[in-house]
Parts: sequence; structure tokens; C-alpha cells
Amino acid sequence: MREAATQATTAGIGDVVPLLELHAVRKSYGPREALRGVSVAVARGEFVALLGPNGAGKSTLFQLLTGLFNADAGRIAVCGHDIRDDPVGALAGIGVVFQQATLDLDLSVEANLKFHARLHGLGKRHARARIDDALARVGLAGRASDPVRELSGGNRRKVELARALVHEPAVLLMDEATVGLDPASRRQLLDEVLRLRDRGVAVLWATHLVDEAEAADRVVVLHLGRVLADGPPDALVHAAGTATLAEAFLRMTGGAGIA
Ligand code: ADP
Repeated sequence: MREAATQATTAGIGDVVPLLELHAVRKSYGPREALRGVSVAVARGEFVALLGPNGAGKSTLFQLLTGLFNADAGRIAVCGHDIRDDPVGALAGIGVVFQQATLDLDLSVEANLKFHARLHGLGKRHARARIDDALARVGLAGRASDPVRELSGGNRRKVELARALVHEPAVLLMDEATVGLDPASRRQLLDEVLRLRDRGVAVLWATHLVDEAEAADRVVVLHLGRVLADGPPDALVHAAGTATLAEAFLRMTGGAGIA
């Protein structure tokens, strides 16, 4: 415990034990090393942007965090639960919004969320209350019976965010969740998630868009499976000797794979 506290302070995280912790995580696909010893920690009430160009390893990292694969080496823990030893405990603490939409368009908003609530073992009455609360939180109160198909792209994403919140996770993972949204919807989603951060949720937000990373408490720059930098946006800019985070990012990654 003492050691963890020291590490957290040294890393400038500002909390005793990170809610999400990756330590020296490695993953290869055959001979291709997608993650080459990645360490990232996210504390309660912290918004960390995982900023990397295409091919950096962001999706691979999210697949490990959501239990789709095991890491070849290293450790991943959520709220102190090791994802390998206690996957149920670890995954219970995580809410995820994936890059690809995963809603059933033919069902209502509520039906989509109900299914998720039941998967997480919530009883009917509790599920109902949590769904109402989650929809209100993303600004969709009163839309529970709307068919998802009739919602705008921005509102569909908000439904996915609400779904991720139904079981009140301590950690929220956003995997390039603004892809395909117009600028106003993108900003709205980011603002919603910043508010969740303010309520104590630990957020890991993967993106290749520098403007989204500028809103983060800390930016972890991932490139070719390695963490190149980890710190507040202004510290990264200062360390790179550039005027903007965009220039710092370009300098670090050599402009690779940026969409
Ligand atoms: P990002 O999400 O940052 O674009 P990925 O995690 O998708 O990065 O990819 C990281 C590296 O791993 C890339 O070189 C990619 O080609 C490779 N990769 C990803 N998924 C697979 C896979 N299923 N099989 C083989 N290589 C893969």
C-alpha cells in the first residue's frame, strides 16, 4: 500500500491507488509487436488521453483491457482486481464505449440498456432506476422508448455512453468514440465525459485527435507500441519545445499514420 502510494505520488497522479493500472504490458500478433511494455495508470477523477496515430496499439490495448485477449506479459488491474486472476471483478469496474456502434437499431433505447443491465446482474427495479439515471446524465431523459434507429448519430453515441454507465463503473474506457461524429456532437460527448471525470470516474480516452487530448488531465502518447510521453498537455508541449500539443505530437511521432 505504502509502495503504491509512493509510486502514485511520483507519477503525479494525485491519488493513492490508480483505479486502472497497466504495468509493462506486452502483446504480439505473431512476429508483430503491437505493445512493447506499456505502463499507464489512471486515478479516480482523472481523464487520461491515450493519443496515438493509426497503428500505435490503442485498439490492442483496449482489447486487453476489456478481456478479449490476455497480454503476453505485464499486469492489468482494475480497482485492484487483476484482469487475469479475477476477470469478473476487474470487468465489473469497467464501462466501455467502442469505436464501432454496437446498439441494436431495431430495439428501443431502453431495451438496449436493459439487456446490458441484466448482463451485469442488475435486478429489474434497480435496472430501471439506473437506466433512467444514466439517460438523464447524458441528456436523454424521456427518450427511453425511442427506437435507436430514429436517433441522430450523436444521440446514439450518448446512448452507448449511458449504457456504459448503467452498472456505475469506476473506470470508463472510450475507444476513439467520437469517430464519425460531427464537430458539435464530438464536443458534446467530450463534455459529458469531462463531467463524469468531475464526479470521480477514471477515464481513459483513446484518440488520434490532438484537440481531444488537449482537454485531458494527462496525455499518454503511444507510438509503435511504446509510451513516448506521459504528462499534462502543457508539460508535454514544454518538454518538446513546441508551441502547441499538435506540433509536439508530430515531432514525437514523426507525423506517422495521422488521419
Ligand atoms: P491503433 O488502434 O492505434 O490503430 P492497433 O492496436 O489496431 O493500433 O494496431 C497495432 C499494431 O498491431 C499494428 O501494427 C497493427 O497492424 C497490428 N495488429 C492489430 N491487430 C492485429 C491482428 N489481429 N493481427 C495482426 N496484426 C494486428
